[in-house]
Order: sequence, then structure tokens, then C-alpha cells
Amino acid sequence: MTLGDISQAQPSALNKLLFGDQDHWFLPEILLRTLVMYIVVLIGLRLMGKRGVRQLSVFELVVIIGLGSAAGDPMFYQEVGLLSAVAVFVAVITFYRFTTYLTAKSKKVEQLIEGKTVCLIEDGKFCIDSFKKEDLAQDEFFSELRLKGVSQLGQVDRAYLELSGELSVFYFADEAVKPGLSILPHEFDKQVTTIVETDVYACTRCGNTQKIAGSAAVCAVCEGKKWVKAVAHKRVP
Ligand SMILES: [Zn+2]
Repeated sequence: MTLGDISQAQPSALNKLLFGDQDHWFLPEILLRTLVMYIVVLIGLRLMGKRGVRQLSVFELVVIIGLGSAAGDPMFYQEVGLLSAVAVFVAVITFYRFTTYLTAKSKKVEQLIEGKTVCLIEDGKFCIDSFKKEDLAQDEFFSELRLKGVSQLGQVDRAYLELSGELSVFYFADEAVKPGLSILPHEFDKQVTTIVETDVYACTRCGNTQKIAGSAAVCAVCEGKKWVKAVAHKRVP
């Protein structure tokens, strides 16, 4: 059956599929409605003072989603008037500006709404408290570090999870690189619980390095029990 057959057999069904409950004449009106809302959105985003979406915090994303819904509906729902959408924009942006005013005034409000920068690595080891609290996926974190050319944690002085969700990494100079936990899969996967030869090992949970002489050992920092041999590779830029 072709589309033509369908339209001949059930013209009303095809009409409903293409036009919904609206009249044909609603289509040009949609152009006008969309143009108006497009301008409203542009003005709205200018008033928010945002240049891009890369640096949106979770709170701002919520605002954007709310505005998106308010902007889209009046474009094609005949029963939604333009003014009600404009009213939503005025309200949301006023609240947004008020909230950003509060976050600028008070550090506490800022942390409550925007979250705060989280320490991930300090002196070649995980900031283990952050890892517990933030519930970070180790795999994902290692992957990001590898993409930045890090092969073992002893190359990293500090690493932070920024508010934007991006990772910032500060490296040790080559001569200050220490032995640390390898994050290269072929080395990281060689985890042992019983140590046979005396050497420096890195805890797979927190990156702490310890010299271990025989038998099983418990990490002095996080009480982890799995180890891999610490490696001292320098970072390849
Ligand atoms: Zn540990």
C-alpha cells in the first residue's frame, strides 16, 4: 500500500497524522510564533549572561531545560499563548539572576548550588575521602588521566574535578616524579594480594606506595589489600 492509497482510503487519518488537530492555516502561524520565541530565547540567554553551554553548572542546566520547554510549547501548540511563555522567561530569569546574586554574596550558598571543586589526587595518591563521597568511577578517571598522557599516579602532583565536570591536572616535573600506581591496563591488572618478592608496591585503591617484604599486606592509608608493583615511568608529553 502506498501513501497515496492511504490518503484515498482514509483521508482524515492522513490529515490527522500530518496536521494533528490543527487547521492547515496554523502552519504559517507557527513560523511567526517560532520567530517570536526565537527572539525571546536570544534575549533571555543574553540576560542570563552566558556565552556558551560548556561551563553550565547543574543548576544552570535545570534553568535551561525549563526555558527550553517554555520556549518550545508556544511554537506549535495553538492553545499556548506567546505571552504566557514570555512570562515564564521573565520569571525564570529573574529567579536565576537573584540566585546568582546570592551565590556571589555567600560562599555557602555558592557551594550549595554550584557544588565545589573536588580534590582527586594529592601528591601522587587519591584524596580518598573525595572518592568515597563523590562515588567516582575509577575506570573513567583513569581513562581521562591516560588521555592527558599520565601513565602512573606518581607523575601527578594535584588533580581536581572542576565544577564544569572537567579534570584539571598539575604534574610533577620529570625529576620529581615518584614511583606510583600504574594506570596502564596491562600493569594495573596484575594485582596481587600475596607479595612474594620484596619491592615497592602501590595500593590499587588509593595509590599509596609502600615497601612490602613478603606475605600479605594492608594499605596504611585506606586498608586496601590489593597491590601492583609501583612503576616510575616519567610522563611522555
Ligand atoms: Zn590504599
